Amino acid sequence: THFGFKTVPKDMKEELVRNVFSNVASKYDIMNDAMSLGIHRLWKDHFIRKMAPTPGARLLDVAGGTGDIAQRFLQYQDEVNGDSTGSVHMADINPEMLREGEHRFAGSKWMQEGRIGFTVGNAEKLDFIEDESFDVYTIAFGIRNCTNPDSVVHEAFRVLKPGGRFMCLEFSRVDNPLLASIYDLHSFHVIPKLGELIAGDRESYEYLVESIRRFPPQNEFAQMIRDAGFTTIGKGYENLTFGTVAIHSGYKF
Ligand code: SAM
Repeated sequence: THFGFKTVPKDMKEELVRNVFSNVASKYDIMNDAMSLGIHRLWKDHFIRKMAPTPGARLLDVAGGTGDIAQRFLQYQDEVNGDSTGSVHMADINPEMLREGEHRFAGSKWMQEGRIGFTVGNAEKLDFIEDESFDVYTIAFGIRNCTNPDSVVHEAFRVLKPGGRFMCLEFSRVDNPLLASIYDLHSFHVIPKLGELIAGDRESYEYLVESIRRFPPQNEFAQMIRDAGFTTIGKGYENLTFGTVAIHSGYKF
């Protein structure tokens, strides 16, 4: 069966997304490397360098999945800041994805130090998290899967401390027409094929490509962030790899 994403009513999107990530959880990391030729690692490294967290910072990583952002954050705290107090809490709607994350950190010193936590929950309703309790909020390759990105950004604003920072890493719009057509070929032909070959699931990856097309472009998303109360610096985003991906950022002042 085809997910028929275009015709899925809004109230079914959550269910659909849950299924997609349950299907791909165990193959998720290897698929990321295959689809992006490993470049997603560089985007994530850059994302954390840009964050430049202060020692002791408390990070909430929403849609944290298998823990790529959490791991890089803790590594940065250890290696760059020489800090052993910074902590990260991961939230994800999908228990299978979160379990992959828990496996990754099982037995790590971060786990023993109590510097990492996990909760299954929806980015749109983080009611298990108190107001103004985190220094940094991240969502990497997660917000486009949410039914109401607007509610996600409002929740981010609520849970951040005054002075806290919202950061989002997400696929976006390639601006150069020639590159855009190459990227389209990759998206509509290569990615579904890889999904079929590696994850045995073409449809989930067709959905993922579709979800990238439907997410608002850089400037519209930046405006959504400002509308939720965040202050952006300059235009509020940075393009990576010609806009394949963008980092949006805003402060709660
Ligand atoms: N942040 C990780 C990374 O960069 O590798 C994982 C990204 S993965 C593409 C997207 C994640 O978003 C999945 O783990 C999925 O379960 C999660 N997700 C989708 N909708 C969500 C929602 N409404 N609330 C929380 N997490 C959600």
